[in-house]
Amino acid sequence: MTPNTDQSVVIIGAGHAGSSVAALLRQSGHTGHLTMVGDEQHLPYHRPPLSKKFDGPTVQQPLRPAEFYADNRIDLRTQSRAVAIRTADTTVVLADGTEIAYDTLVLATGSTPRPLPGTPEGTSSVVTLRTIDDADALNQSLGRGGDLAIVGGGYVGMEVAAVARSRDIRVTVIEREDRILARVASPELSTMLTDYHRERGTTVLTGRSVARLVADGADVTGVELDDGTVVGCRTVLVGIGAAPDEQLPRSAELEYDDGVITDEDGRTSDPHIFAIGDVARRPVKNHHGLRRLESIPAATEHAKRAAAAILGQEPDDHEVPWFWSDQFDLKLKIAGLTTPDARIITRRTPGKNAVAFYHVQPAGNVVAVEAVSAPSDFSTGKKLISNGSRVDVEALADPTIKLRDIVAQAG
Ligand code: NAP
Repeated sequence: MTPNTDQSVVIIGAGHAGSSVAALLRQSGHTGHLTMVGDEQHLPYHRPPLSKKFDGPTVQQPLRPAEFYADNRIDLRTQSRAVAIRTADTTVVLADGTEIAYDTLVLATGSTPRPLPGTPEGTSSVVTLRTIDDADALNQSLGRGGDLAIVGGGYVGMEVAAVARSRDIRVTVIEREDRILARVASPELSTMLTDYHRERGTTVLTGRSVARLVADGADVTGVELDDGTVVGCRTVLVGIGAAPDEQLPRSAELEYDDGVITDEDGRTSDPHIFAIGDVARRPVKNHHGLRRLESIPAATEHAKRAAAAILGQEPDDHEVPWFWSDQFDLKLKIAGLTTPDARIITRRTPGKNAVAFYHVQPAGNVVAVEAVSAPSDFSTGKKLISNGSRVDVEALADPTIKLRDIVAQAG
């Protein structure tokens, strides 16, 4: 490969993916102009605390210190929104009319929370959660007292439910699927977490959808469900998924289908444009089709591969997709991607509140592991997935057989 280190790179999006690719480019010897455009007022920051610790001072954690950007000659433009990409003269247009020319453009625009359909304009205390400002709004609304209704039992909803319960706030989760985390977790994990939340006082309603929000003037007072029940509340958190930005990729006529279509290194249908992180739909090793992976480790891995591709360097090996979640005292770590034909093998750690659900395909290979406060199962499962090893499922389900022996015997 020919090294290509002095081109002008413009990155749109200053989240985890955008910031990682900027830092990695510099670390890997990129010397050309490097501009990063973000529409928030804050320096790039960690998003996980927003749903896990939104009520405390630790919510605001910059990814890197302010001087990092100047020291590394990264022209960081906060409060700047890109509104168009002109591919004819390789230029990005910002909302204030500024034009920035690029040799290579990286789209790292993430995704935006879906709004609850039918929310009346101007209703206060109905919030989504993606940014520091959203977390502040949620915290302030809860600080005024009253109950919390959460629409959507995904990771946003369940993490916030746990924090709110630890503040003694009455919480109702309303999920339209027949179980929480239906899109991303096994039925076994959903059941375990539902019980755990209920035992700690959260009302979890599944198979229920929202008919309308009830308000007194501008103040929300409840959520009316499809069966006519009204869940009284003073704050509504809407966590019903997130959608990638479509407008910028369309302005560049990029191939798009619920995300910008890319290869594994983030290359789009335009040779001068990469897309990484939540906004990209890409191949994942050992899986059919293209996936939009919405997690920080996936964004970081995609950023690493894109940085190598931009510089004409060899990429690192693929990493098994993984992510984590904290709910009450439970530490969830999940590796791999679930497949419908996988059998779930449960492995409990004796004497501890720890369990792992291994997803094993008919041929005996592990494709995913959901580890709850079970770090050894997580690292072992991730290794088994990466190696494509076949395991003895009887041994896996038997906690008296050591994990290292199972790995040693895996084919
Ligand atoms: P999510 O994971 O897509 O879950 C949203 C849930 O809400 C789905 O089960 C969805 O069901 C349900 N839903 C949709 N419309 C509904 C409605 N009108 N009424 C009731 N339920 C409804 O999305 P999220 O929790 O909002 O999270 C957004 C993104 O942030 C995701 O990519 C998530 O993975 C990410 N995130 C990750 C973490 C982590 O890694 N720990 C933490 C927070 C957020 P359907 O499937 O039927 O639509």
